[in-house]
Amino acid sequence: MADEKFAAVIVGAGPAGSTAAYLLAKAGLEVLLIERASEPGSKNMFGGRLYSYSLNRIMPNFWEHAPVERRVVRETVGMMAGDKTVFLSCQDENWAKPPYHSFTLMRAEFDAWMAAQAEEAGAMVAPGIRVDGLITENGRVIGVRAGDDELLADVVIAADGANSLLAEQAGLGKKPSPHQVAVGVKQVIELSPEAIDQRFNLSGEQGAACLFVGSCTRGMPGGGFLYTNKSSLSLGLVVKASEFEAGQYRVSELLEDFKEQPPIAPLIDGGRVGEYSAHLVPEAGLSMAPKLFGDGILVVGDAAGLVLNLGYLVRGMDLAIASGEAAALAVEQARNAGDYSRAKLAVYQELLRSTVLRDMEQYRRAPGFLENRRLYQMYPELAAGLASGLFTVDGSPPVSLMKKAMNHLKRYPVGLTQLLKDAWTGGKSL
Ligand SMILES: Cc1cc2nc3c(=O)[nH]c(=O)nc-3n(C[C@H](O)[C@H](O)[C@H](O)COP(=O)(O)OP(=O)(O)OC[C@H]3O[C@@H](n4cnc5c(N)ncnc54)[C@H](O)[C@@H]3O)c2cc1C
Repeated sequence: MADEKFAAVIVGAGPAGSTAAYLLAKAGLEVLLIERASEPGSKNMFGGRLYSYSLNRIMPNFWEHAPVERRVVRETVGMMAGDKTVFLSCQDENWAKPPYHSFTLMRAEFDAWMAAQAEEAGAMVAPGIRVDGLITENGRVIGVRAGDDELLADVVIAADGANSLLAEQAGLGKKPSPHQVAVGVKQVIELSPEAIDQRFNLSGEQGAACLFVGSCTRGMPGGGFLYTNKSSLSLGLVVKASEFEAGQYRVSELLEDFKEQPPIAPLIDGGRVGEYSAHLVPEAGLSMAPKLFGDGILVVGDAAGLVLNLGYLVRGMDLAIASGEAAALAVEQARNAGDYSRAKLAVYQELLRSTVLRDMEQYRRAPGFLENRRLYQMYPELAAGLASGLFTVDGSPPVSLMKKAMNHLKRYPVGLTQLLKDAWTGGKSL
């Protein structure tokens, strides 16, 4: 491979890299997609759900061929406070109709399928190769180095995920700090489809998505997730990495604790733990995004910090796919102009402005707001306690809803003004 030159070398066969490779190969460019894992996707993990709009734009009705698990029809957020949990749930039958709103899936199968689509379109897919660094000439990226191999290209697309080595080497971004990333852990728990249908009140291809906040992370910034697959559940936690610096907790212990919480234990009862995985989530939004382009290089997906965690939804896959699409369009334009300079590749950022960056910009205050510890320590207790009070009949004198709420609020060291302030800031940030 040493002397070959490609139009584009793409590093990382996650959704961002495979999308870019698929579109560029379809456009007739010579593309090399390099992946360090022996099979694309075999080492990749996420919580469990893909919002389908961006992939559907590129591969219409992809669900007819792609290895997806269930169509999510019910969303639940649970605020956990020890022995009490309050749930907010929404079921929308429209989500069960094409174009399906979101799918649960398993990354090993899905990423392998995406890479296979790129290969079928004409990309050369090279798994089992770890890229060690960039090759530059006069300050311009001209390829990548993998062991003794030098792979030259007009443009390199860094799709190497969170904590991108390539973005850092290109001088486009810095290593993220523990305050900017979260640690995610997940177990896949195998259960029969019948048990899942019955426990989650689902049928056929219907699926459910549940997010949790509060005592599931012992009050630390982060949350829990539970997604239904065909014959397994994806259960896990995401906690800000800086929380583990003091060494007080291990994330694996937290996960074992989470599994024993009253709303979770009966759902996973009798299930067999299959795979266990862990991964970083870039969570600081635009404040941690590297420069998205340089001379001869573009940065996409998690490598560019393009993830949105709002507490009630987690988006990374759809943004990775949309950024891979924008990168492919930018490379095509650069190819037509015969110019891969930073000035020409800047069109990538322009293309992102109407999609991914628009969404990231809208929620730019969310990471700061979500650092507020009252969201994880006090408000779940307040909400769960108040809800439990509303539904409890025990012979004590009844009081109005307002009085109940005010009496309940008095038990917490947060005044009404602070509560309203947090609600106002949350309303504007999320
Ligand atoms: C716990 C957790 C839960 C999540 N939940 C969700 C969710 O439910 N929904 C959602 O939309 N998003 C979720 N996300 C985010 C989502 O997983 C990412 O945003 C998405 O995977 C980003 O895709 P990507 O292609 O940019 O990067 P990745 O999927 O990380 O792919 C990067 C690829 O690059 C390869 N690679 C890295 N370095 C090299 C190298 N040097 N040489 C060769 N190959 C290399 C890796 O092996 C990998 O295949 C979650 C993430 C985590 C960690």
